[in-house]
Amino acid sequence: MITLPQSALTIITSFQKAGFECYAVGGSVRDLLLNLPTKGWDFTTNATPEQILGLFPDSFYDNQFGTVGIKIRKETNNKDTEPELEDIYEVTTYRSEEGYGDHRHPDKITWGKTLTEDLSRRDFTINAIAFDGKNLIDPYNGEADLSSKLIRTVGNAGDRFREDALRMLRAVRFAARLGFAIEGASAAAINEHAALIQKISAERIRDEFLKILTAEHAADAVLVLKNLGLLHFILPELEESFATPQKSPKRHHIYDVGTHSVMAMKFCPSTDPIVKLATLIHDLGKPKTFRKDAAGVITFYNHEVISARIAKSVGSRLRLSRKQTDLLITLVRWHQFSVDERQTDSALRRFIRRVGKENLAHILALRIGDRLGGGATETSWRLELYKKRLDDVQKLPFTVADLQVNGHDVMSIFDVPPGRIIGEVLDLVFTEVEKGTLANERETLLAKLKELKQNWPKTD
Ligand code: ATP
Ligand code: MG
Repeated sequence: MITLPQSALTIITSFQKAGFECYAVGGSVRDLLLNLPTKGWDFTTNATPEQILGLFPDSFYDNQFGTVGIKIRKETNNKDTEPELEDIYEVTTYRSEEGYGDHRHPDKITWGKTLTEDLSRRDFTINAIAFDGKNLIDPYNGEADLSSKLIRTVGNAGDRFREDALRMLRAVRFAARLGFAIEGASAAAINEHAALIQKISAERIRDEFLKILTAEHAADAVLVLKNLGLLHFILPELEESFATPQKSPKRHHIYDVGTHSVMAMKFCPSTDPIVKLATLIHDLGKPKTFRKDAAGVITFYNHEVISARIAKSVGSRLRLSRKQTDLLITLVRWHQFSVDERQTDSALRRFIRRVGKENLAHILALRIGDRLGGGATETSWRLELYKKRLDDVQKLPFTVADLQVNGHDVMSIFDVPPGRIIGEVLDLVFTEVEKGTLANERETLLAKLKELKQNWPKTD
């Protein structure tokens, strides 16, 4: 027995009193039946947007999606101030959609007359159940698929994926989140139509893919993407890396690069989609750097440099923001950091500067995934010691900003405007001060700057 929250019932009753039909539908009903927390309620009705606006004073029309938003406000006893906004419920008029010339958008949307018509345009049986608080309307047996844990299209799978190719990724996303399998005919149709995903904008692919990576069953889902032929169009470098073996004498690796990548992503404890993605692609430079010596020992020298290049192109292909791309590249580029206890404090500081203080937790999460995904234990005394030293080193307040000279000194001595050179010069000076070969005293450092200026640009 399932019950709707009071606020949802109130909305449905208001429609019914005015002579309209109204049902909760889609993800909210699905999650309610699965006893999962619902995020956002969606309703469908035979009232037109104008009629809905007339019924609810606190509502607005979102033209782009043809949806009316109804503002739900918190209960309050204070009559003088407007109660706080609690949620926005989305109400969509019954629709039917026709002709999908571009494999994504219907050429024509018309208001539908019946609920059944509206349910028939929805993607999966589990998303096509309607509920008015009393009756479940479930013409496609979505409830049965919920109990058999199956993602199955409404109607003919091939037709539905040809209409809107994004549905192929939505199928994998729901499977990833719910731990469901994609039903046979639906899976076969994805396999057949995988190439149509190229019709979908990179932004939409990015959104679905990042949601897949943070879902509970992300690792299985990436393998499903591979098996259904979608991965090839999203992350071909990953697909190819399954052909690169790593098992060799003197090496701890047990998996090929692709399997290791997926396992590392699975065990990476972060909830940040970019950290998950970084973990998934951190080793993708390996196929290009693969070497096997006479004794059969496999190496991948400097693979992280190639991986970072791949990270850059993945960032632009998936239209990640500048900030997301920078994070992706940084984590991938420096993922090989050593936790050797013999490292000096200044080596640790260099690492912190490269990765950025704010990203240390991210790169440690990548390392944990990398270890677990390679068959090692979650941590080691070395890693624990390293983490502690990272904390300790950061307590010592010493960065470029603590130098007794600053950017203005560099600009005036070098007679240059603001630009990259300033950071480069300060870094040089900082390195020497940190090593102890130069004292952090203003006169000494100004003299050093003048000396550097004589020999600039460096010729080595
Ligand atoms: P989530 O919990 O991720 O929001 P959801 O099922 O609510 O899942 P939405 O994208 O919010 O998914 O869409 C709401 C409903 O609209 C879906 O449940 C489905 O019935 C329908 N729908 C959404 N996108 C499509 C699509 N591309 N093709 C067909 N029906 C769709
Ligand atoms: Mg939703």
